Amino acid sequence: MRKINEECGVFGIFNHPNASELTYFALQALQHRGQEGAGIVTSDGNILKQYKGMGLVNQIFTETKLKKLRGQHSIGHVSYTTSGDGNLLNVQPFLFHSQSGQLALCHNGNIVNSKAIKHHLENNGSIFQTTSDSEVLAHLVKKQRGTFIERLKESLVYLEGAFAFLLLLEDELFIALDKHGLRPLSIGKIDNAYVVASETCAFETIGAKFIRDVLPGEVIRISETKMETSNYAINGKCQLCAMEYIYFSRPDSELLGNNVHAVRKRCGINLANEAPVDADVVIGVPDSGMSSAIGFAEKARIPFELGIIKNKYIGRTFIEPSQKLRDLGVKLKLSAVRSLIENKNVVLIDDSIVRGTTIIKLVKMLKVAGAKAVHVRIAAPIIKFPCFYGVDFTTYQELIGAKHKTDAIRVLIGADSLAYLSLAGLIDAIGNKNICSACFNGEYPTHLYEKIEKANLERK
Ligand code: AMP
Ligand code: SF4
Repeated sequence: MRKINEECGVFGIFNHPNASELTYFALQALQHRGQEGAGIVTSDGNILKQYKGMGLVNQIFTETKLKKLRGQHSIGHVSYTTSGDGNLLNVQPFLFHSQSGQLALCHNGNIVNSKAIKHHLENNGSIFQTTSDSEVLAHLVKKQRGTFIERLKESLVYLEGAFAFLLLLEDELFIALDKHGLRPLSIGKIDNAYVVASETCAFETIGAKFIRDVLPGEVIRISETKMETSNYAINGKCQLCAMEYIYFSRPDSELLGNNVHAVRKRCGINLANEAPVDADVVIGVPDSGMSSAIGFAEKARIPFELGIIKNKYIGRTFIEPSQKLRDLGVKLKLSAVRSLIENKNVVLIDDSIVRGTTIIKLVKMLKVAGAKAVHVRIAAPIIKFPCFYGVDFTTYQELIGAKHKTDAIRVLIGADSLAYLSLAGLIDAIGNKNICSACFNGEYPTHLYEKIEKANLERK
């Protein structure tokens, strides 16, 4: 069963007359980060209102619904997936009413010690509305004393893992990023309003100007157009999830000042240097393999072709919950262009291999379309370790790279050759070492509590 709170997208805006409409458009720009559910909460300074639903942003919201979300402040969320039972209650933002006021909250990431905190809170009288780990923050805040920011900072100290939180009160917006900066979060401005988003592509869409990235361990309070910054933890080394560069983020987004397309292209160039191959044509897997394929082709001086075409109207392969549906999804989504492939030695570039489902299908598809040979080149290192920070591979068993050596994988996927980019090649492409690379080398930036024990137990 899929977990809650896997890779998601958050957006917030403070002090804009069109807050809900702009949130709607920004969430559409972040749609690639989650297609299973979305929600918006707005505040007019007195009352917080919410609307959320299952599916794509444009399936959930209508003009009438957005008009009802009156107010100049707003936060929104797109969920990658909700709980296995597809419960609307787990779609964020969550809205809490208490005697002290209203609070809306949304989150991208995963809190690794949420189980223990929840247990403690429940033993002390807290009643949880959802099964999401994000809710623990709301209950923790309630238990502390002092001003809201004091209580928030006090609460964040207890949380371990990856989180980019947005919290909306009647007249204040709070932003918090985990002390390792595992999830991306940027601040911008439009007119007199501050905006905050998981990715800068949301700013471009609504005409906002990028100001800066939120720092690891930073807590920001926005009120009446004023932005105040403080820390809940000492700013540690930034360890942004490497998969943001490789797969999650949109090519037009900037992560810590690095354009995602440019990083992927450099990954392709480095891959061509590390694992050259004699071939007639380079083909990228749409969408996230394309930038690396361009880089590879350029460096290897082999023509780049659109040998695989994606049907834009079908969702991402991973979204379908069952393996059976996922297998079907790949066939529905991608098709080979026979005339570009027949009798050719093909280099096939994808951004990553997780379970191996996609690449097996694609190699077969190219062979059926008449390829003489298919040389697979992966623009990321081998994923050998599970992720506990909000990405949907949490066990060793599901990772083909954890179970098999490269040559065995080559045989399993039916490729004529297979090579992955080295971690050094990835770091070189990014231009710095400020990344989490735990799924490649097992060097997790945080404690993992029972998560790793469970994964290790299941591995035996
Ligand atoms: P798999 O088919 O399981 O090997 O997954 C790899 C494919 O899914 C690649 O084509 C990637 O573009 C994409 N992908 C990589 N990481 C993820 C992820 N965490 N969630 C969803 N899709 C992913
Ligand atoms: Fe990202 Fe991998 Fe680190 Fe998870 S383990 S946060 S997927 S780099």
